[in-house]
Amino acid sequence: MPHYEFFCHACKKTFAKILTVAEHEREKIVCPHCGSKNVEQGWSAFSAITSKKSA
Ligand SMILES: [Zn+2]
Repeated sequence: MPHYEFFCHACKKTFAKILTVAEHEREKIVCPHCGSKNVEQGWSAFSAITSKKSA
């Protein structure tokens, strides 16, 4: 299953969703923290940035 990472501009939090490509195309992604639709897809870049902290 593809795993998508998102960043919410409204509450400045990241979250991940597991979606099929079809679901991703069809669904409007909303932030699970605040319900905002002002989200940006981050792919795996966020986990790469986060993992640098432990390096
Ligand atoms: Zn949010």
